[in-house]
Amino acid sequence: MVYKNIICPVCGGSCDDVQVDLDTENRTIDVQNACKMGNAKFQEVVSSHRILKPTIRENGKVKDVSWEEALEMAADILVNARRPLFFLGSETSCEAQEVGLHIAEYLGAPADSNATICHGPTVMGIQESGMVGATAGQAKNRADMTVYWGVNALESMPRHMSKYGVFPRGYWTKRGRFDRTMVTVDPRVTPTAVASDLHLQLNPSSDYELLSAMFTILNGKEPHPSVEEITGIPISVMKQTVEMMKEANFVAMYVGLGVSSSYGKHRNIEIALNFVKEMNNYTKCNIGALRGHCNVAGFNQLASYLYGYPFGLDFMKGYPRYNPGETTTVDLLREKDVDAAFIMSADLVNHIPADAAKYLADIPMICLDIAPCPSTTAADVVLPGVIDAMECDGTFYRLDNVPVYFEPFTDSPFPETKSNEDTLKQLFAKVKAKKEA
Ligand code: SF4
Repeated sequence: MVYKNIICPVCGGSCDDVQVDLDTENRTIDVQNACKMGNAKFQEVVSSHRILKPTIRENGKVKDVSWEEALEMAADILVNARRPLFFLGSETSCEAQEVGLHIAEYLGAPADSNATICHGPTVMGIQESGMVGATAGQAKNRADMTVYWGVNALESMPRHMSKYGVFPRGYWTKRGRFDRTMVTVDPRVTPTAVASDLHLQLNPSSDYELLSAMFTILNGKEPHPSVEEITGIPISVMKQTVEMMKEANFVAMYVGLGVSSSYGKHRNIEIALNFVKEMNNYTKCNIGALRGHCNVAGFNQLASYLYGYPFGLDFMKGYPRYNPGETTTVDLLREKDVDAAFIMSADLVNHIPADAAKYLADIPMICLDIAPCPSTTAADVVLPGVIDAMECDGTFYRLDNVPVYFEPFTDSPFPETKSNEDTLKQLFAKVKAKKEA
């Protein structure tokens, strides 16, 4: 059967035009409109390596158990730990993340999500200086200049250029690519850089200096000549770029981990945001982050409106605290400041430094996921995950922080649970019952 307008749950693009032809008898799925990354995830619905049974590790051996046994053991681990870590990954809905945050609050535990290892510095930069933002639709319809800074959009969010950023025909950009100037700022010659009209190939980790020099030029001053050697970009090219931006009608600037995770971190983002604010004295200019996972923005929004902080929360004192470098996942693991972990919809072991991953593998760990990965291999309890936007409904926040409600085209394969939110509610009930007993 064919289903239309399905939302892709892979990257922050949250493409909402995917067409799926699901053959339940032959267990095949044909996907139209999604990119390769999206297609691969849709294939998980029928894949043979999907996690379909809960498992626990007993005396070093992994064995299949009933849903009830796995939940019991997971609840025991969480209740008996002095300080369990909740890593509420972004490949699931805000509704599931919300229940996870409530369990962490109930147990007085730290709770974190993917931003801690990706766009955390972006969020911190926004807290410092505020952000001039725009929806993806505004950029599509208005932007006649697109700047990708420290991001290889063609490979990290493959449909961004065709759906929002460069190629689509908008209301004021009727000729699509021909009505847009595209600039890439990246130390590497990426496919995005090759497709650009202008590539500023700056020296690695000199984003702050380049932004600072362009900010100086924007204010009508001459940057210090040493900036040419530091950044590798001639001042004349910096001036040309600033002039192009001033002359555009609407500039859409996108930053990636190349800015937020190079030297300077959130200070890079802060100066980029201030540069964009200043640019609005001359033309309309906005900035946004290209987020690699579908609901990174969702956790930031949810945690901020529920508890006041976007990631790296700690409920140990009975109220939420936030101190990146202390209450964030890698720091908690490096300091051996947690003694158990609950990981949902994220392969955390694969994404953190080796010493932190080793400690994580040494402590009791519960994983909720859809497919085997290093984290599920190291886990003591594995709970099968339900695939959001395919098998259950819920909400994601898109890259531009717009909430997107998604509906499923098939059912959860598990009679015991309808969604990850449902699984977490069951776990919360068990944790409460054990704690209160
Ligand atoms: S660009 Fe992102 S959201 Fe769109 S189809 Fe590809 S992986 Fe899915």
